[in-house]
Order: sequence, then C-alpha cells, then structure tokens
Amino acid sequence: MKERVIRAPRGAKLNTKGWIQEAALRMLMNNLDPEVAEYPEKLVVYGGIGKAARNWECFDAIVETLKELEDNETMLVQSGKPAAVFRTHRDAPRVLLANSNLVPAWANWDTFHELDKKGLMMYGQMTAGSWIYIGSQGIVQGTYETFAECAKQHFGGSLKGTITVTAGLGGMGGAQPLSVTMNDGVLIGLDVDKTRIEKRIHSRYCDCMLESLDEAISLAIEAKKEERALSIGLVGNAAEILPEMIRRGFIPDIITDQTSAHDPLNGYLPAGLSLEEGSKQRVEDSEAYVRLAKASMAAHVNAMLEMKRLGSVAFDYGNNIRQVAFDEGVKDAFAIPGFVPAYIRPQFCEGRGPFRWAALSGDPEDIYKTDEAILKAFAHNERLCQWIRLAQAKITFQGLPARICWLGCGERAQFGRIINDMVASGQLSAPIVIGRDHLDAGSVASPNRETEAMRDGSDAVADWPILNALVNTAAGASWVSLHHGGGVGMGYSIHAGMVVVADGTKEAEERLNRVLTTDPGMGVVRHADAGYDLAIETAKKKGIRMPMIDG
Ligand code: NAD
Repeated sequence: MKERVIRAPRGAKLNTKGWIQEAALRMLMNNLDPEVAEYPEKLVVYGGIGKAARNWECFDAIVETLKELEDNETMLVQSGKPAAVFRTHRDAPRVLLANSNLVPAWANWDTFHELDKKGLMMYGQMTAGSWIYIGSQGIVQGTYETFAECAKQHFGGSLKGTITVTAGLGGMGGAQPLSVTMNDGVLIGLDVDKTRIEKRIHSRYCDCMLESLDEAISLAIEAKKEERALSIGLVGNAAEILPEMIRRGFIPDIITDQTSAHDPLNGYLPAGLSLEEGSKQRVEDSEAYVRLAKASMAAHVNAMLEMKRLGSVAFDYGNNIRQVAFDEGVKDAFAIPGFVPAYIRPQFCEGRGPFRWAALSGDPEDIYKTDEAILKAFAHNERLCQWIRLAQAKITFQGLPARICWLGCGERAQFGRIINDMVASGQLSAPIVIGRDHLDAGSVASPNRETEAMRDGSDAVADWPILNALVNTAAGASWVSLHHGGGVGMGYSIHAGMVVVADGTKEAEERLNRVLTTDPGMGVVRHADAGYDLAIETAKKKGIRMPMIDG
C-alpha cells in the first residue's frame, strides 16, 4: 500500500478553475488529513470503514478531474470513483455523489462486502464519502446537546455529580468525553484500542487514560463526590467490562455506547480477542468473526439493560447495537430508547441540526471572526452563544479550521448571507464552505435512529432524503450526495448530504439563500407531514408552502 500524507492546500490561491471546485478539492483532502481521518492510509475517515474515495487511483483521478473541471461542468462520483463529467450550467452542483447504494432486497453487508472486494463499491458513511467531515468537532455540539437534554430531563439540568459510562472513542464517539465534561459530568469511556484514546487526549477531548478498571472506578467516584468534571479513557472491551462493573456493584448514572456496532466485521471487537487476534481472525475467518462480534454485542446490550434495571439512564447512541442484539435473541433490546426520540426530535421539528462551516484559507482567525458574527447575529439565543464560547475555549481544530453549530430553518439562510458578505468585503481571507452532517432534520430515513418512532409511523419512508438531495440540487448546492447505510449499517438507512460555498459573489448569495432554505425546510416539512405540531407551526411561521397542510 502506498504511504501518502494528504493535507488540503491553504490560502487564497486557486489550484482549480473556480472556488467551488477548489472547495471540493480541499474538503476531500481535508477528510484525509492525518489530523482529521482515523486511518488516512486506508482512505478511512471515520465510522468503521467510512471512506473518502474508493482507492488511491480513484482519489488521484478525482483530484485531477477537479483541477480541470469548468464552471459549467458536473463530475459524477459513484461510490468513490469519478465516473463521468457532463456539461451542465453554472448554478448546478459541480459534483454529484452516490455512495454505497444497493437495491433494497440486496441491501446487506454480505452483498456490500462482495462488491467491495471486487472493487465496485465503497462505504461512504455519512460525511466521509461526501467530503464534509471536520473531525470530532462535527459531532461535539450534537453530543453536547444530547447530554444537556439528558441532564435536563433526568438530573436537574446539569451532569454535575453524575458518572456516564460509554464505549467507543473513535472519530465520532471521541466527542463523548468532552461533551460530558462540558456538561460538568464524569465519564468513563471504554475503547479496545489504546491509540484511539491517545488521539482524544492529544486533541484535548479526553483528560486521561487508564488500563485498570479499579482505578477508573475509584477515580470516577472521587470526582463525582467532589462534583468535578473529569473524563477517563479506559482501555478495555465493553462486552467484558460492563458485566464486570455490574459484578462489582458499580452502576453508572448514564449508560450508552458508540462502538461501530453498525458494522460487525470492521467496527466491533468481540470479547476475548486482543486487537491483533481480531485483525487476524477478521481476515482469516470473517464469518466466525462476525458471529463472535454479534454474540458480544448481545452480551453488551444485556449488560446495558441490567444497568438500566438497576437505575442507570440508558440510551442508544445511533450505532444499531440494539438491532444486532435483538436479532441475537435479546428481545427487550429496544427497551433502551434511541437518542433521537428521547432528546433530539423537537430540534428537528424546527429544521435545526448540525450546520457547519470550514475556512478554506486554513486560517483560524477566519473562524474566530465568524464566531463573533454569530454571537452578534444570534445574541438573543443564550444556549447558542454559550456553545460558541465553550467551543472557542475547548475545541482544538483538526485540519482546516471549522465550526459546528446547530441552526434552524431561517437561521441558516441568515447566517449564510452574513458569511458571504464577510467574504465579499474581505473580512475573511478566503471563501467559506458550508455544509452539514447527514444526521439532520430532513435528510435521512433511518428507522433505528433519526426516524425512530415517528408520530405517524412513517419511520421507514425513504422518499424524504431523496427529495432532499433533489431539491438541493435544483437549488444549486455546490455538491450533493445520496448514500445508503450510514450510521446504522447496510439495509438500515438512506441519507443525503449537501455543501454550498460562500465565495462572496452575488451568484453565491442567491445559491446560499435558496439552498439554506430548501435544506432545513425539508426537515420542517418532513416532521410537519408526520404530524408534529411544532413543525407545523414552524412551517407556517417560516412561510413554507405545504399544500396538504395549508389547505
Ligand atoms: P469509529 O469506527 O471511528 O470508532 C469506533 C471505536 O469503537 C473504535 O475506536 C474501536 O476501537 C472501538 N471499539 C470497537 N469494538 C469495541 C468494543 N468491543 N469495546 C470497546 N471499544 C470498541 O466510529 P465512530 O465514527 O466513532 O462512530 C461510532 C458509531 O457511532 C458508529 O456506529 C457510527 O455510525 C455512530 N454514529 C453516531 C452518531 C450520533 O450522533 N449518535 C454520529 C455519527 C456516528
């Protein structure tokens, strides 16, 4: 395998024929920056085997094509491979991507792996294959909001004096330690891979690493008593350690999990195997590996259920571990509620979700200036301002400086205009790229996660993310993607991504206004259509026309 180190170009000089192509080039490269990606040498960005390009040849061909791409052309990317370039027009997306999509009756990991081995497919996860991953920060605010809401519902508004236990400190899961300490709580985060914990310590997301369960428990209890925020990365396997915690009578206040359980072959280490043994068996006998991984997930979920019975607040954190355990015979696996219906859905009803932007200049000052702009424009929103101040103080940038902040319908278009004006006036040293996670209000169908327990039972209806991708394309997003299997694995989700570039031009202003209205607007519409009063109210307030609701 070629050892290559990829880092996005910085500064205001173009390597391509326009800022949109440049943005796609820099964000693709940024996804693979060693500061950003989990395993850049394998093109793996995060979330199990979520990749940015199918292989290095495809990566090179994408880069070359972006360098040549005209302002009236569109590149098509099929599961990480540049398949074609067509003449379109200036307001059309410069790139359209489809990743990991399989016909429903074939939509399972076995078919995917077979095609992957033949070099015909790539797993795009969510923002890996759609080039808008910004490191763990991308999930920090959502994780922070989730724990804040959990604190509000169960612990009087703060996690002070509580202990959370979770597992998986990978690309996304690595946001958990910081999110819990930002809410003043104590966290023990298990990971089988010491290097993942070290990475979180390096980025200041996690405070310390231990290898002894006893030490971790006593340190956590001490911090809880002193009401001191603390995050501990503990090296160990969740399927072994959680039952051991119960045997020792240690029941945390909150129990959750973010191992990559959505992918039993690549994302979850079975109990009883070392990392090396796991890597060997994964290749030599993948079927046996998957069997062991699924059995361990069942033990893992059983331990979470037992902790729940003994008083822990338990919630599923979007990795489909309940489904695997259920299929393995843990019939009450879904007694653990999903985090979206439990804590997030009201935000989706207002089109609110993980909005983000990155400074193509590479200059952190550009992000700090946008922070100031957001504090000024949304001064009335105390929770948002508190988040921006916390993020400034605690977030170490990975790769191109970026910011995440949950904004709703109306707010996103307003902020897009502000950013574009700042680029136009030269306040920022280069254009800004604006995007979001696929885990958003109107861009995903995922019955075990974002669309779990919808009010009208429409959990599995996947027309919505497809309409989302189509309307954002029509509105002139810079690149648009449609994926399958992100978050929860093959067969369980369909979702769309969008990115739009603020380059300071009048054309960009119009595109931003359209896209940043259609995109969160779809979130409001999806939830209004499902009968949520808050979404119906929001649609009316924001002037979104819904013929069957407006009458
Ligand atoms: P990742 O693959 O980067 O990290 C997973 C981590 O789990 C790895 O560090 C791995 O060493 C560890 N692990 C595997 N088996 C383990 C075991 N038995 N015990 C302890 N640790 C173990 O994945 P990620 O990007 O952090 O995502 C984690 C999961 O969360 C995925 O399923 C992803 O789809 C899901 N996810 C959830 C959200 C959300 O908002 N809830 C967002 C994105 C992703």
